[in-house]
Amino acid sequence: MIRSRGTAHINGSTKLAGVTGWPLEHTLSPAMHNAAYEELGLNWVYMPLPVRDEHGLAHLAAAVRELPFVGFNVTMPYKQAIVGLLDEVSEAAVAAGAVNTVSQAEGWLIGHNTDGVGLIEALRTDAGFDPLGKRVVLLGAGGAARGALAALLSAGVESMTVVNRDGRKAADLVAETEPWHRSAAVETAAPDNALCAVREADLVINATSLGMRPGDQSPVPVEWLSPRQLILDMVYGTPRPTALLEGARFLGATALDGLGMLVHQAAAAIDIWSASEDSPAPRAVMRRAAEAQLDARFRPEEA
Ligand code: NDP
Repeated sequence: MIRSRGTAHINGSTKLAGVTGWPLEHTLSPAMHNAAYEELGLNWVYMPLPVRDEHGLAHLAAAVRELPFVGFNVTMPYKQAIVGLLDEVSEAAVAAGAVNTVSQAEGWLIGHNTDGVGLIEALRTDAGFDPLGKRVVLLGAGGAARGALAALLSAGVESMTVVNRDGRKAADLVAETEPWHRSAAVETAAPDNALCAVREADLVINATSLGMRPGDQSPVPVEWLSPRQLILDMVYGTPRPTALLEGARFLGATALDGLGMLVHQAAAAIDIWSASEDSPAPRAVMRRAAEAQLDARFRPEEA
């Protein structure tokens, strides 16, 4: 059972953090962050900061400059819109084309992207997978796919194939990230034409939103997968494994859902805000807090 220290520690010196986006009803971030702050003994508190539109986002950014915020996270639909409200943006955020973490010091706002770090950490620590020299198929060409592409290229993958329903978006994504391709071969394939790339891949990542709703099909036929592969589905927080993960596990492949990536990106944000290499954010505690929240969400109502 997760026990919380409640609100007794909040006093005149408490620092603030939070997550902005819309809607935020289902966010797991407050549970993960507050559990981590308690474990680290930080006098911080993390809150949902929902804003309805970009006008609200601008007001929030202005308020953060005046208040004792260590920073805040940014989720859908503002990961791009926030960029114009910041003073500086990290190289990782420029490569990812999005900001999911903002740090604040003396009114100066710096944008970061920890989604990519979160993905790489999840692959390394949760599956022992080093992307260096590997062949990857990336399903999707939205915001999450772009962040994943940038992070995997910087981790030294040998090749990437981007597979998306809208082929033009996949081609745009490959063209926009050209400065970060280095020696990797980066190409696109239509979903119906991706059999070879999927068969040859060491890692297949689902960065489409397929799998979020009950009854969603797998973004590629699961028969194309093989037991030697690692499959990571970015979808998380569903009551049942997605069709992709279920099929991959049935075949004997290693299959991760998106919860590990979510935990690692949140932990990386805390590491930026605390700037403490000696006390990294407690990943295991954060994962337990997220799982407890999901368990409570899916537990049948008691009569
Ligand atoms: P976007 O809306 O930016 O992109 C959605 C992508 O899904 C597009 O490539 C779109 O293809 C594709 N897609 C949507 N519906 C279908 C469908 N019916 N069939 C095939 N493809 C489809 O979303 P994001 O990139 O922000 O998020 C994608 C997923 O990643 C979500 O499930 C999100 O929750 C998850 N995510 C998880 C994170 C984590 O930490 N685990 C972090 C960030 C995101 P098209 O271009 O053809 O429309």
